[in-house]
Amino acid sequence: MNLKHKTTEEYQGFEQGPIRPPSEAFSLLVRVTRNCPWNRCTFCPVYKDTRFSIRPKDHVIKDIDSVHRSVEIIQKTAREEANVPLAEIRKAAGNGDHVDPLAFNAALNWARDGMRSVFIQDANSLIIKPSDFVEILTHLKMRFPWVERITSYARSHTIARISDDNLKAIRDAGLNRIHIGLESGSDNVLKMTQKGVSKETHIKAGLKVKKVGMELSEYVMPGLGGKAFSEEHAVETADALNQINPDFIRLRTLAIPNSVSLYDDYETGRFEKCTDLMMAEEVLLFIESLNGITSVLKSDHILNLFQNLEGKLPEDKENMLDIVRRFLAMTPDRQCVYQVGRRLGYFSRLSDMENPRRLERTKKACKQFGITPENVDEVIDELMRRFI
Ligand code: SF4
Repeated sequence: MNLKHKTTEEYQGFEQGPIRPPSEAFSLLVRVTRNCPWNRCTFCPVYKDTRFSIRPKDHVIKDIDSVHRSVEIIQKTAREEANVPLAEIRKAAGNGDHVDPLAFNAALNWARDGMRSVFIQDANSLIIKPSDFVEILTHLKMRFPWVERITSYARSHTIARISDDNLKAIRDAGLNRIHIGLESGSDNVLKMTQKGVSKETHIKAGLKVKKVGMELSEYVMPGLGGKAFSEEHAVETADALNQINPDFIRLRTLAIPNSVSLYDDYETGRFEKCTDLMMAEEVLLFIESLNGITSVLKSDHILNLFQNLEGKLPEDKENMLDIVRRFLAMTPDRQCVYQVGRRLGYFSRLSDMENPRRLERTKKACKQFGITPENVDEVIDELMRRFI
C-alpha cells in the first residue's frame, strides 16, 4: 500500500471526510488523511472502494486558515449586529473577503455550536508523520487558542508502533482524546472480521494512550462475534477493557448492510447473526464482566437497543444491568413491541413504553406490517440497514 501523498497534488479547497464519532457532532472537522489505510474490516461500509491518502501538510494548514478567516468574519458580523441571522452572515461573507464556501459553512456551524472542540479526520490520522501532526496541531491551537478538546480516530495497530516520546509530543501539541475501534477483545472475532489487530495489541495501544495522559474512548460492537462467538466476544472484550481502563466505552451494535463483505457470509449462513434477544444477553454478560475499572459506558448510537444504557463504573453497574434484565424478563410480545418501537424511533428506553401514544403507534405499526415475535428480527435487520 502506498501511503505517500503526491507532493505535486494541488490544493482543491477545504475538505471534510464522511464520518465522525457521535460525540463529535459539535466539533470542527479537520481532514488530515482521506479514507482508511486498512479498509479490510468485514463489517465496515464507510470507506469501501476508496483509496487512502495523506493530505499534504500545507493543504491542511490552508484549510485551518480558511476556517479561521471565516470565523473572523462571523465574529465581526455578529459583533456589529446583535442577533444577526445566519443568512445575513452568509450574505456578508459573500460580499466581502473571498472565503472558501465549504470552510465558511463549517465555520458557521462550528461558531453556532460554541467552537470548543475539533475532530481530526479520517479513520486513522495518527498514521501521518508525528512531526507533521505536531505542526498541524500547533497551527490549530495558534489559530483557535480557546479550543478545549482535539480528538482523532486511530487504529490500535498504528498507536502501538508510535514511540512514547512521539505520542507525548502529539499530546503536548494539543491532541487530548483518541477514539479507538476496539470492536472486540476476542482474537477469534478480530481474526474472523479481519480487524488487523490482536487483543494484545489493543491492550498495548490503549495503555499507551492512557500512559501519555490522553483521554481514551474505546468502541465496542455488540453482536460482532455472531452466534458462534457471542459469549467469548462479551467475556474477552470485557477482559481487554478491564486491563486498559479507558475513560469511555462506547457501544455501537453490529448491523450488516449489503455493501460489506460480512454480508456475503451472512447470506450464505457462514455468519449467524445474533437476534436482539441474544444481543441483550451478550451485553448483559459483557457489563457483568467489566470489573475493577472506572470507565464511563456510553450508548450514544442509534443502532443500540437501549439508549440509556449509560453510566459510570463501578457505581452505575447495577442500574445498567437492571435495564437489560428488565428487557429480558418481559414477555415475547412486549419485547417485540419494544424492539420495533426502538427501531422506529418511538422509544429510546424501556420507560418510553409507558407513554400511551408512543405505545399505540408502535402497536399499530406491528399490526400494519404483520410484525410478531417470530419475524421481528428479520424486519429489524431491514430497518437497521437504513441507519448505516
Ligand atoms: S479500521 Fe475502522 S475505518 Fe478502517 S475498515 Fe476497519 S472499521 Fe473501517
